[in-house]
Amino acid sequence: MKLALAAIVLGLTTATLAAQSSADNQLARDIFRQLIEIDTTDSSGSTTVAAEAMRKRLLDVGLPAADVVVLGPNPRKGNLVARLRGRPGSAKKPVLLLGHIDVVEARREDWTTNPFVFTEKDGFFYGRGTQDMKDSVAAMVASLVRLKHEGFVPDRDIILALTADEEGGASNGVDWLLKNHRSLIDAAFAINPDAGGLSTIKGKPINLGVEATEKLYADFRLTVTDRGGHSSLPRNDNAIYKLAAALGKLEAYHFPVELNTVTRGYFEAMAKTVDSTTAHDMSAELQGPPDYAAVGRLSRQPLYNAMLSTTCVATMVQAGHAPNALPQRATANVNCRILPGHTPASVRDRLVQIIADPSVDIHLLNEAGQPSDAELHDVSVTPPPLNREIFEALHLVAGQMWPGIPIVPQMETGATDSRYTMTAGIPSYGFCGMAIDEDDSRAHGRDERLGTESFYKGAEFQYRYLKALTGGAGK
Ligand SMILES: [Zn+2]
Repeated sequence: MKLALAAIVLGLTTATLAAQSSADNQLARDIFRQLIEIDTTDSSGSTTVAAEAMRKRLLDVGLPAADVVVLGPNPRKGNLVARLRGRPGSAKKPVLLLGHIDVVEARREDWTTNPFVFTEKDGFFYGRGTQDMKDSVAAMVASLVRLKHEGFVPDRDIILALTADEEGGASNGVDWLLKNHRSLIDAAFAINPDAGGLSTIKGKPINLGVEATEKLYADFRLTVTDRGGHSSLPRNDNAIYKLAAALGKLEAYHFPVELNTVTRGYFEAMAKTVDSTTAHDMSAELQGPPDYAAVGRLSRQPLYNAMLSTTCVATMVQAGHAPNALPQRATANVNCRILPGHTPASVRDRLVQIIADPSVDIHLLNEAGQPSDAELHDVSVTPPPLNREIFEALHLVAGQMWPGIPIVPQMETGATDSRYTMTAGIPSYGFCGMAIDEDDSRAHGRDERLGTESFYKGAEFQYRYLKALTGGAGK
């Protein structure tokens, strides 16, 4: 997935670009082109082909074969794991770079250009994966090639994992690697550029978002059944009225406000960028005990509300079978986004409590949309304190490339592969330097594209960041 947090960066000066070598740009572009032109869709593509192509590039620059492997559960769903060795004897645990190499399906007839032909046109690169996320994958591979080429030895191992089936399919590479080859990708923390990024208002960069935790997705089905009958003889026990009453109680309910290390960081950073009234409310809400009037005002904004609480909202209803019959069945889908540290089971208990009507059956649904209790105890891990190394290097490099830009920790309301690493105890952070105009989010859509300058600058950011993070120049 890729969220539309980024936007075009104006103020990009030719001087900045001139500081980047054209050879470095060419390298990143070549890798980007190669990746776009390898079909990695679930239906007809192969992540193994893309993983092997990247493996060859890393072997060509001198990484030993033992440190660059392609492995997976079947021949079409290969994952690449590469390791750039750090200084011998370093006490620091490795850093893990994560990127999914699969892409969402794209049909030629829907697109203006061929989605699997890398096309440069009017200042953009077109192709499936140009935003999600072969741009960042190319940037990560190019960074490792550059670091190895210049003989840079990081102060810790850098592991790169390029994986299958983030967008769909049955062979999620991160999940598979954690279960089968944990030691290959075990790390102090992970960086996954599938989320976060540059955000702008009216073209001006306002902040760089860093995803550091995710809400948990859950659908519940509310069902009321009844014996039905002729509508000329209505009774009190009407399934539609019962369901409507249950949804009315849900509408009136607000889940408790709860902050974690990430949302605290979010509101602290945002308070510096918003108007003074909102800033005052944000500061008040961070006090312990919080100012509930301030919390109430903030909660009227859907985004702030989503940062403060678990949310559950009715998204679909279905009821009745004929205009002249009493309904035998009424169902509603209630979609919940659960705060880290909580489970679907605890949310279901709360729904049962709020609705307080035993004739309303409440069931968690699985990904196939069927009632299932198997995921009731899933949990999105409560985030640990924000990692200082991650943020110090970020302030340094982002400060060079986008002077003065605030760095804002974020809790995503969607989900990326980071949910697997976070659950496995590897704190994971999502950010990249690829600026995408907020009106130009085309991930998963037609004519997906990325500005050429945005790509080159994003690739340079990736390289500089990695170096700063691992003891290189500038630190
Ligand atoms: Zn993605």
